[in-house]
Amino acid sequence: MFLYVPKHINNIMSNSHYKKYKQTIKEVTKRNYRKRVSSLNHYLENGKCLHCSESEIACLRFYPHDKEIRKTIKRVGMNDTSRKTVKRLIDSSKIVCSNCLIKIENDLLDPTFL
Ligand SMILES: [Zn+2]
Repeated sequence: MFLYVPKHINNIMSNSHYKKYKQTIKEVTKRNYRKRVSSLNHYLENGKCLHCSESEIACLRFYPHDKEIRKTIKRVGMNDTSRKTVKRLIDSSKIVCSNCLIKIENDLLDPTFL
């Protein structure tokens, strides 16, 4: 019993320490993720759909590299190379809204206006 009690207390302490640590990691990850996503929003901030002039950031996409850009940006630990890749992909993309993007992908809209 005497041996058990201190061990038990120790367990509780390291458990709460672990929980706190885990929480911190989660917050840092979230913060870094937001930073990466907001760097994307920064590109879209003054943008609007080249077809219908939609300017709501949440609706804007990069054509044709949207998926690749978002995938790269979501990857944890962006280094200089991936930053450059994103920049290059963004520079070679045009901004359209998700509605127009769907139309382009389904051949309902001719992307030559871009
Ligand atoms: Zn549009």
